[in-house]
Amino acid sequence: MASRRDSRYLAGMSEADPIPTPRGERQRKPDWIRVKAPISQGYMQTKALMRSLNLATVCEEAACPNIGECWTKKHATVMILGDTCTRACAFCNVKTGMPRAVDPLEPEHVATAAAELGLEHIVITSVDRDDLPDGGAMQFVKVIEALRRETPSTTIEILTPDFRNKSEAAVEKIIQARPDVYNHNLETVPRLYPTIRPGARYYASLRLLESVKRHDPSIFTKSGVMVGLGEQRLEVHQVMDDMRSADIDFLTMGQYLQPTPRHAKVEEFVTPQAFSAYGAIARAKGFLLVAASPLTRSSYHAGDDFAKMKAAREAKLAAAQQS
Ligand code: SF4
Repeated sequence: MASRRDSRYLAGMSEADPIPTPRGERQRKPDWIRVKAPISQGYMQTKALMRSLNLATVCEEAACPNIGECWTKKHATVMILGDTCTRACAFCNVKTGMPRAVDPLEPEHVATAAAELGLEHIVITSVDRDDLPDGGAMQFVKVIEALRRETPSTTIEILTPDFRNKSEAAVEKIIQARPDVYNHNLETVPRLYPTIRPGARYYASLRLLESVKRHDPSIFTKSGVMVGLGEQRLEVHQVMDDMRSADIDFLTMGQYLQPTPRHAKVEEFVTPQAFSAYGAIARAKGFLLVAASPLTRSSYHAGDDFAKMKAAREAKLAAAQQS
């Protein structure tokens, strides 16, 4: 969650029912984004494990609509560096305030959770920690190191803050720890940053991903946008072009959902057909992988998508060698 919470666009779905708008009208969610309540045994086991290790998840904090499906499959996105963010993005459900001190046991707890869940792929995100000199970068490094030690076959995807106003060295340390995937979400089009993501800067976020690729081209880079906030189609196409200029490998696109009435309202429910059209355009622009659907979230199906992304890169390299 980077900007403070990049992945937090995962907004509120636990209630699949009407969303109140600022004018007090009731806006119904279309059928294509309704989900079932999470009640499976796997869901309960994942929840119990997270509680026992004192780990926060973005799945819960952001009231992600996919929690029933993901937790049933024992796939959770762990949110490190506490549950309190130093920013206040208009789309994000994570609480804002002064965070607690960094938990030195957190890296080991994350590794224990990954080992107990038997994860082939793990996604680690965090709140924004503008209060820390390095923005929390060293905690990402320690988590990656603990995972490599405890469960070496697990592939690691990180979804980080933007580390705005922090030294480049902070991010370089994370790159040197070599996560398999480095994700940072742009979230929306630049025109909407002042209202939706006021603590962040579009080009700073873009540059962060560009610099990851420049330092280590073997790391897959990934970024996401949410739609339905009032963006225009051509603005979204421009974001895709910007991402390709930064050599970003994987684009995710999903529908923004308003977590509570005090968050930014949904301007539009983008249809599944429109998502397919966005997906086709993004693929034509050259991303290795694109996931675009109403319920797509940064970490949704991340393990399967990692395998697809690896296969796509290998196919591309093989094709380049033959030509
Ligand atoms: S999509 Fe991501 S945030 Fe949502 S439940 Fe699945 S793992 Fe958690």
